[in-house]
Amino acid sequence: MQAFLEYLNTLNLFQLFALFLIENAFIAAAAVLIGFACDGLLMQIRRLITVEEIYWACSTVFFNTLITLAGYLLFKNGYVVFHLSVNPLEIFVDFIVLILAMDFLMYVFHWAIHKLSFVYRFHDLHHVYDTPTAISLFVLHPVEVMGFGMLWLFLLFVMNFSIYAVMLYLVFNVAMGIIGHLRKEIVPEVVKNNVVFQWLANTGFHVDHHQNEDHNYGFYTKVWDRLFGTLK
Ligand SMILES: [Zn+2]
Ligand SMILES: [Zn+2]
Repeated sequence: MQAFLEYLNTLNLFQLFALFLIENAFIAAAAVLIGFACDGLLMQIRRLITVEEIYWACSTVFFNTLITLAGYLLFKNGYVVFHLSVNPLEIFVDFIVLILAMDFLMYVFHWAIHKLSFVYRFHDLHHVYDTPTAISLFVLHPVEVMGFGMLWLFLLFVMNFSIYAVMLYLVFNVAMGIIGHLRKEIVPEVVKNNVVFQWLANTGFHVDHHQNEDHNYGFYTKVWDRLFGTLK
């Protein structure tokens, strides 16, 4: 980890941007491929993805890269601090706090973008899909991408987290994004009804939101929808 951070320190702004662009493009491409594979649609991917979706996905990758670069510069200049503890309990607690805090911030942002008519026009692009696929996850207006990104940077600015918890959270974030944008439920019924897992978002939870915009505003959990009475 230390060696990687020292390597980043040797790069100029353009090189950092290029590196983060490759990273974000790789994550998006992998997420789309995994999502289509989960739906059993990998062989039909070229027929199912439109040029417009590729355009918006490239736009989202570009703006996610700007957020990654901003996050790194905040870290480099001491505005964002990570701790390097390898204590499993500390990493686990930070991971849970990250999930609940980001889920709450994104719930409020998502609810507000639906309820405030002057900003909804930035979100309706994502709502053209009744039956989303994994690429729908990246069909987002730049204002929305930057809005979610600012929430993320805000949380990292106000709280110090374990770097390992942050890495786990970033993987979890992409996994939940894929799960929410599939054509079939991949979470087995027995897991979905489990006392712990029934608090977690599943495919049907977010697909329902695409079909009825009055409920299910959370992304990772059903906690905030249950608390604020917006759970279907
Ligand atoms: Zn969606
Ligand atoms: Zn929405």
